Amino acid sequence: MSGERLKSHQLLKSINQHKVMYLIHSEGPISRVELAEKTGLTQQTVTNIVNRLLEQDMVREGEPVVSSGGRKPVPLTINGSRLYAIGIEVAGKFIRGTLMDFRQERIGAASRSVSHYESEEHLITLLRSVMDELIALVPDPVLIKGAGMSIQGLVDSRRGVALRLPGIGWGSFPLKEKLEELYGIAFYMENDVNLLALGENMNGSLNDSVHNITLKFDYGIGGAICAGKELVTGSSFVAGEFGHYKAFTGKDAKKCHCGGYGCLTTLVSESGLMKNEGLSIDELADGVRAGEPDKVSLYERMAEAVCLAVSNVVTFLNPDHLLVTGSVLEKLGDLLLPELHRRLPDYVPETCRGVKIIHLQHKPDETELAVGLVVKKVFEVPVESLSL
Ligand SMILES: [Zn+2]
Repeated sequence: MSGERLKSHQLLKSINQHKVMYLIHSEGPISRVELAEKTGLTQQTVTNIVNRLLEQDMVREGEPVVSSGGRKPVPLTINGSRLYAIGIEVAGKFIRGTLMDFRQERIGAASRSVSHYESEEHLITLLRSVMDELIALVPDPVLIKGAGMSIQGLVDSRRGVALRLPGIGWGSFPLKEKLEELYGIAFYMENDVNLLALGENMNGSLNDSVHNITLKFDYGIGGAICAGKELVTGSSFVAGEFGHYKAFTGKDAKKCHCGGYGCLTTLVSESGLMKNEGLSIDELADGVRAGEPDKVSLYERMAEAVCLAVSNVVTFLNPDHLLVTGSVLEKLGDLLLPELHRRLPDYVPETCRGVKIIHLQHKPDETELAVGLVVKKVFEVPVESLSL
């Protein structure tokens, strides 16, 4: 085999093993037959992979299940009883953490509220108190295989550097390095919307989608772009920053925390509404429903801005699916989403009208998604460690 072909053969083998491990973890107990069906791999390839995993004691076999004729399927599970991972959500007003084992059992949770983070050190202090509370629940800290973090901000996920933290602002804070120094375990971090999009693409409502956009209208506004199932991060991890889409002009162009004016987040996110209009999302939603003219007018300007902004990104990126979620839609989605469905076909070129809009009403727990980040990394097999 030539060098190039050898390399691609090894890569394929690694991806296949990863797929099988991931399915056993997320859907186990699962049989070899089901694994072949779900991965599209041949029975023989699945058998080879499972044998390798059994040898390494990473997978266990259960009692064969009674079936109608033929060989009885043997259920496979990950040997996860003594492996743990921590998932952390860093949001504008709180830090939450969850400790789970690799069987996806939730062992414990911890959280701290905060009015605002005073500095990076303040954030680290709060993170430490959540981490310490969770680590105390594990019989031996060495069994913790890592911590994943979902951050409402911008993250260079490759280097683990926070580029913008909620309430603290822009910078270049080596969060991964600081935490790894403190705890001696691996930390993995990702922007909250990117993490949500990855989860939904891998094993959720975007399973069947290839090109998609995820938009979260929440305390802030964030977005994620997936093209060909790959996350598009841009050259400096800023791709998908939908909150800073320039959407308002004239008297509605309020100053944004990014330094610009008229960003979508200034009047459409919970934090923007509070800062610029002194309104909570509940107050706005109640006022709109009661027909209060000033709130109805504000809502109409918001709706127009959202419909135009969404139409523009749909035209520009031509996704097959658009996933929307977040607290703003929990309160105003019954008004805003029909509006989007109605206006989008008028605003985008005919060729983009096939885009399907999905409203994710109950978004997955972000700490659990962050645990998934650890599990995914642990199950990623380094190509060079595989024997042929
Ligand atoms: Zn902005």
